[in-house]
Amino acid sequence: MPDLFIDGDWRGAVDQRTREIRCPADGSLVGVVDEAGGKDTVEAIAAARRAFDEGPWPRTSPNERGDLLLRVADLLARDKEALARAESLDTGKRYVESEYDIDDIVNCFRYFGRLAASETGRVIDTGAEGVDSRVVYEPVGVCALITPWNYPLLQTAWKVAPALAAGCTFVLKPSELTPHTAIHLMRLLDEAGLPAGVANLILGAGPEAGAPLGDHPDVDMVSFTGGLQTGRHLMAVAAPTVKKVALELGGKNPNVVFADADFDTAVDMTLTAVFLHSGQVCSAGARLLVEDSLHDRFVDEVVRRAQEIRLGGPFDERAQAGPLISAAHRAKVEAYVARGLEEGAVLRCGGARPTGAEYDDGFYYPPTVLGDCSVGMHVVQEESFGPVLTVERFSDEDEAVRLANGTIYGLAGAVWTTDEGKAARVASRLRLGTVWINDYHPYVPQAEWGGFKQSGFGRELGPSGLAEYRETKHIWRNTAPSPQGWFD
Ligand code: NAD
Repeated sequence: MPDLFIDGDWRGAVDQRTREIRCPADGSLVGVVDEAGGKDTVEAIAAARRAFDEGPWPRTSPNERGDLLLRVADLLARDKEALARAESLDTGKRYVESEYDIDDIVNCFRYFGRLAASETGRVIDTGAEGVDSRVVYEPVGVCALITPWNYPLLQTAWKVAPALAAGCTFVLKPSELTPHTAIHLMRLLDEAGLPAGVANLILGAGPEAGAPLGDHPDVDMVSFTGGLQTGRHLMAVAAPTVKKVALELGGKNPNVVFADADFDTAVDMTLTAVFLHSGQVCSAGARLLVEDSLHDRFVDEVVRRAQEIRLGGPFDERAQAGPLISAAHRAKVEAYVARGLEEGAVLRCGGARPTGAEYDDGFYYPPTVLGDCSVGMHVVQEESFGPVLTVERFSDEDEAVRLANGTIYGLAGAVWTTDEGKAARVASRLRLGTVWINDYHPYVPQAEWGGFKQSGFGRELGPSGLAEYRETKHIWRNTAPSPQGWFD
């Protein structure tokens, strides 16, 4: 069956190209999918445009749209096992993590399903007689939704659910490396009764299949999650047609540990912060900042435990962390570690590919800790997006905040202390879209997610996540019009 979904039909690519998808854990063939080029994307944009301008979807009531999202949530829950399996095969991530992801995706659709009907404009009391003034929300239009490979269906859900709740139509382009759960989602949207042309799916490489999404005049909005360079590029190509742009980019997230933190919990969660999904998490706590007086004991324990993390494939129940997504990505991570060492970091553990036949065909890289880092190093400033923890030290609260804020990014981070006043002060001074106090990684669909600084702009999830996909219109109706006589 063909894999591109355009105007309610499953099609192959115009020029018949395909791509092999292989599991990063062992190189096994997961599937062969159609590979779109620019022509396919232009057709998908045209279908989304027609569905927006002429189709029923933007004109359905918010309640109906909410109902459809709730039906999709039920179908996702029904297919949880198949979806989690497909996600693990494409990404190499542990099956149990994929199961958590699918639960979060179901919740995301439920949340926006309920929100769709509850956020419905307002009446303004102007104080003037004979005036009926209302603020109404309308869908932005045709949206290009572009997503990365690390949380393929989750990042997709964060865009698709609010876009549909708002009444938009869209062209989705998932990462070329991880297409399978997006294909499955299109089937479920179809099964739930979404009209043809509202949801369109393009698979393929960014510069070819993705290119028209950034600059085509019929696209009203680009919502992008991915790397900083791609985000900058998309913002530039979207500028001539003044598209609405929302960017969820990278992070270099500080995990700040004060000497009075609960030691065992902070150590344990420092590992979770950075090594979950082998560090391929935009909010990974890849920068550990530890107060001087705790530094040596804390880092020794982090290193001891990092060395015990077992690597393995997605269905190996003993594995605690999986492979990296590709050979190219592993090479990038290795280059960051090498550069860090050249710049004076000290290798505390990891830093070399694991040996053993079970690792030969996968892109494995071990949990790596680099000690004695300083804020100016490339490995501290830039996102390696791998299982690499850099360690810096600080002597007081001011220095902790200054270092933590010392990169171009501002996505997320944490502060660990038992002093509530200090926790509150530091949390308010961190220039980050999400701050965890004595925790790392949890999020809920009710709360906004997004970055400060060059981690992007716009928000996903929460009421703001829906607002991204809506235009706000003020309608002023004079119920007793008469000449005003200004120019008599
Ligand atoms: P990427 O920028 O390489 O690719 C992201 C998507 O953009 C892919 O679908 C890709 O095909 C597409 N793309 C690339 N060039 C394009 C172009 N010219 N036109 C249109 N589309 C194009 O990023 P990636 O390597 O897939 O993902 C990793 C990055 O994503 C990391 O930097 C990570 O921090 C970031 N990320 C951020 C968040 C967040 O919430 N802020 C969440 C997950 C991932």
